[in-house]
Amino acid sequence: MQTTASNQIEDLVAADRILAAHEIVDAYGHVSVRSERNPQRYFMSRALAPELVTAEDILEYDLAGNVVGSSAAGLFLERFIHGEVYKARPDVNAVVHCHTPSLIPYGATDVPLRPIFGLAGFIAEGIPVFEIRKTAGMTDLLIRDPARGRALAQTLGDKPAALMRGHGAVVVGASIPLVVGRCVYLDLNARVQAQAMSLSKHVTYLTPEEGKLSVADDYRRAWELWRRKGGAG
Ligand code: MN
Repeated sequence: MQTTASNQIEDLVAADRILAAHEIVDAYGHVSVRSERNPQRYFMSRALAPELVTAEDILEYDLAGNVVGSSAAGLFLERFIHGEVYKARPDVNAVVHCHTPSLIPYGATDVPLRPIFGLAGFIAEGIPVFEIRKTAGMTDLLIRDPARGRALAQTLGDKPAALMRGHGAVVVGASIPLVVGRCVYLDLNARVQAQAMSLSKHVTYLTPEEGKLSVADDYRRAWELWRRKGGAG
């Protein structure tokens, strides 16, 4: 089946709404998708709270973070996260940047995120923590330029997500449903892991092998449910 740019944009708008509905993003945070017509470009909204995004707000960017064509719209300061991840990861077609509160403690302490149930089994691959001080010294913690984006992409490596100390996370995937599913279950795992850790010092996590065996499909069933529940824009 031929997928058109308009399908991609409909899915992107739905992803914005679904991520907001799940409180993965609030007024801040963003999601992008690599263009199927030109892998050197991606689609993302203008600077706007994700819950408010409609198809008219979607712009096309090159991997340097420039808007393709003319636009007077305000752009996300941290759009360099997306272009630099797409450059470094040919396997990645969708990127989310979020400040989800449940994830912040794992970027600020020596407690790693670990997979505690099957739908979050991808965490067994390891979720690295980006320390911006190592490359940029004292900053406002924001990925304001391509160099900071490259450093973040380097920390991400070949993993499904990286935490950003004192800031949030970047989550990636081969498709929009996959990246949205990873965001939802990363958040849920973070909260359930904190609950388990408050109950006992002895928590049994999934082993890397169990994690690998548990990583099911691309959350397609969840995606269809979420789209129907209000993601459709
Ligand atoms: Mn941010």
